[in-house]
Amino acid sequence: MRYVSTRGSTKQGPSPAFSDILLGGLAPDGGLYLPESYPQVSAAELAEWRELPYAALALKILQKFVDDIPACDLKSLADRTYSGNVYKHCRPGRDATDITPLTTVEPGLFLLELSNGPTLAFKDMAMQLLGNLFEYVLDKRQETINILGATSGDTGSAAEYAMRGKHNVRVFMLSPDGLMSAFQRAQMYSLQEPNIFNIAIKGMFDDCQDIVKAVSNDAAFKAQYKIGAVNSINWARVLAQIVYYFKGYFAATRSNEEKVSFAVPSGNFGNICAGHIARMMGLPIARLVLATNENDVLDEFFRTGVYRPRGASDTWVTSSPSMDISKASNFERFIFDLVGRDPAVVRELWAKVDAGGSFDLNGTPFMAKLPEFGFVSGKSTHADRLATIRDVWQKHQLMIDTHTADAFKVAHEHRDEGIPMIVLETAQPVKFAETIQEALGREPSRPKDFDGIEGLPQRVEVMPADARAVKDFIVRHCG
Ligand SMILES: *Cc1c(COP(=O)(O)O)cnc(C)c1O
Repeated sequence: MRYVSTRGSTKQGPSPAFSDILLGGLAPDGGLYLPESYPQVSAAELAEWRELPYAALALKILQKFVDDIPACDLKSLADRTYSGNVYKHCRPGRDATDITPLTTVEPGLFLLELSNGPTLAFKDMAMQLLGNLFEYVLDKRQETINILGATSGDTGSAAEYAMRGKHNVRVFMLSPDGLMSAFQRAQMYSLQEPNIFNIAIKGMFDDCQDIVKAVSNDAAFKAQYKIGAVNSINWARVLAQIVYYFKGYFAATRSNEEKVSFAVPSGNFGNICAGHIARMMGLPIARLVLATNENDVLDEFFRTGVYRPRGASDTWVTSSPSMDISKASNFERFIFDLVGRDPAVVRELWAKVDAGGSFDLNGTPFMAKLPEFGFVSGKSTHADRLATIRDVWQKHQLMIDTHTADAFKVAHEHRDEGIPMIVLETAQPVKFAETIQEALGREPSRPKDFDGIEGLPQRVEVMPADARAVKDFIVRHCG
């Protein structure tokens, strides 16, 4: 399998293979990588895959996209990544070896639990694989990488837990000093592995992101210190997420004649992009229900055909903070498919986006194609979130987090008679305890390994919002 850029540059040189794009971010032309075509899943394969445990299913799907890692190595990577020991933080009564247990909420409505990994958010599902793949490829190539990132919570901790103790990898993670919850701080800062560096910046999340950009834009520094990223545009992260759509489908149906719909709490469009790819591979998905919070740039697109990224100052701070985005960094992948994989069209549309503008597909032939892709959407507000958390708790004794609540709310607006609706759970409620308290008047339960983590010793370097200081720190620790 070879990879192409959504903006077309790889047409000129040899197309890269999976391992070539694994460690990088954007394609050299600024586009995102996608496989040159989507592998198809036959009826016979679907029938065979239905019975497979998670790791074996993951291997089947990985093999369709990765042809430059020997099958036996890929198998051991998948087995190590998707083991019940890693996804052990499930609710009482669930089977951790399912990796993504499916709960029946009511007839026809299901919850797929994706947040039982080390940091209690679905980002572990992909990041854990990325950590093992990075270590494997870097060992083979005798290379090292220094991952530099900025986080307001979930991404940073998922990356650190995936990379802790890995050979040839260091992580430098910037977070806004004092702005994360005590639980999130404890998760990240209590890591004691010598390859993990937490840097608390005196500023906001945007300051952290600006520093990452400034350091990455210094090409000489970036090359000398092998600066890399694990942000949500990384292709391997999208790839890893395709697996649980298949797993959820098999768990909610009896035969491959049936269809299901998925409701997905969305921010950067990574998770639901994987659902789109699963559907393109032939998984019988009726609808992909995209849920946003007050930051509704994606809902607006699917309702109106207008993609209008917001400025940082128009981005709301909400109680589902991992969906607080101004533009959706993976969205370009979907548009590439929508416009018939014509990179010239993508270049034209993103010339507007990259200049701070918007685009409107009304009056183009692409607008007529949009319904074929199965997307529907909706948005949810703080009041909806509280009401939904309360409703699901009272009716079903099921406690859900704020992001999952957004998806529940929108899922109800798009249910079809006879088609199971699977809501993806993207985080556990304990990560957003304040809002749970507001909705239910009680503390969320916490998995027992997390008891008292706020009291553990913390390892964090506090710094001014200054790229120079961060660079100096990296230089000092790359000896
Ligand atoms: C990252 C995240 C999301 C958004 O996922 P995308 O792939 O960016 O669309 C939703 N919920 C939670 C809890 C997250 O951490």
